[in-house]
Amino acid sequence: MAIDEAKIAELRQREDARFVAERPKSAKLIREARKCMPDGVPMAWMTSLYAHSPFFVKEAKGAYITDVDGHHYLDMNLADSSMACGYGLDVVADAISAQFRRGSQYLLPTEQSIRVAQTLAQRFSLPYWQFTLSASNANTEAIRIARAYTERDRVLIFDGKYHGMLDETSHYLDSDGLNPEVRGLPRNAGSATDIVPYNDLAAAERVLANGQTACVLVEAAVTNVGGVLMPKPGFLEDLCELSRRSGSVFVIDETHTHVCAFGGLKRAWNLDCDMLVFGKGVAGGLPVGLYGLTETLAQFMAASNAPGHHPLAIGGTLFGNPLQMAAIEATLEHVLTEAAQLEAARLGAKLADGIEVAANKRGLPWSAHRLYCRSGYHFVETLPNDNADIIAAANDALRELMRVYMANRGVWEAVFSASPAVSLAANDSDVELYLSVYEACLEELTS
Ligand code: PMP
Repeated sequence: MAIDEAKIAELRQREDARFVAERPKSAKLIREARKCMPDGVPMAWMTSLYAHSPFFVKEAKGAYITDVDGHHYLDMNLADSSMACGYGLDVVADAISAQFRRGSQYLLPTEQSIRVAQTLAQRFSLPYWQFTLSASNANTEAIRIARAYTERDRVLIFDGKYHGMLDETSHYLDSDGLNPEVRGLPRNAGSATDIVPYNDLAAAERVLANGQTACVLVEAAVTNVGGVLMPKPGFLEDLCELSRRSGSVFVIDETHTHVCAFGGLKRAWNLDCDMLVFGKGVAGGLPVGLYGLTETLAQFMAASNAPGHHPLAIGGTLFGNPLQMAAIEATLEHVLTEAAQLEAARLGAKLADGIEVAANKRGLPWSAHRLYCRSGYHFVETLPNDNADIIAAANDALRELMRVYMANRGVWEAVFSASPAVSLAANDSDVELYLSVYEACLEELTS
């Protein structure tokens, strides 16, 4: 059954009007904010994610956000998964505030950094670790290390990816070839980038055959498309082998997926790689990016740092600071536990089941992924295999309506392309709340 476009437009008008009318304080604040920040926000994509103005936040705790107008929202996108552990975690707050009183930044290592690197090494099966302030920084460094190590320039990425606002990766592929996704990049920013469809091993092999690829950068499951794109069985394993055979560094980006399972998808799916990048949730909400690397690459880095060498283009004054170490240690030990991650995965599967059942009951043959705590869904019966399938199945007007409809009823999905996801702070009744609002929306759409 297809949903009538006129119905979507009619409901959207009603829901947009309600969203604005019920948030007078946010409306007043955005007017004030526009006088001192472009678009009224401290970071541009806080407004570009949706058609209406943002609401202003008063506070957040666990799985819920409260806005200045007194609305409570179950957050099912979790600040694009950076708050996957939940908001305002006491155990992390205590660790950070104790460290802050002892100094938040020394530009020197602490004993705690050894424990953190050892725990990461054990959990993610890579022996060496480095820290940045964001996953974007970590991907930048991964690419630069790979270039210096291989003495090659090219980077191979996959259609539908997002790896941060990096010059090399901010491109998309269409029938004319590579195009910039954003403005402000140098004209030749994509000149050393190759993009092939995700899950297309033969296409990757053709690129790697040129012998010029410094690194293959791939998400374990693609999570920044409209939903989730799962790897075909064996795709990531074969890609790793191909990459190594061609002399490229194989980098897996688990920025979104490391929270899915204990030790990330790398451990859950027994994946191998030369570098593993992530960030977001691993410090319980404190800004961090990090990457694990093999013995060989760690030795290469150490040798590059030796006196007399031209240094690697990496590092930053605030990277690897002791606040991050305190937050990561507390999060790994007390929050990102195997039991908690299994429970979030159970809730994610329950959510995916509920999404499909409610749609199918109304003659909508929609399908949902079961990627542990993430349950993105598509408006088609068969789960997409690549980004072209996702684009073909997309219905932006419907998505946007559903997002604002749910916001008006206490469910927040900031980045709908990466929703819904269950946080470690959520429980069965939160999943039921999501499903009841989602079902009410489908009911209106189909009646
Ligand atoms: N890699 C992936 C897979 C991501 O999803 C993102 C952000 N959505 C990034 C890297 C960049 O993360 P950040 O914006 O925190 O630097």
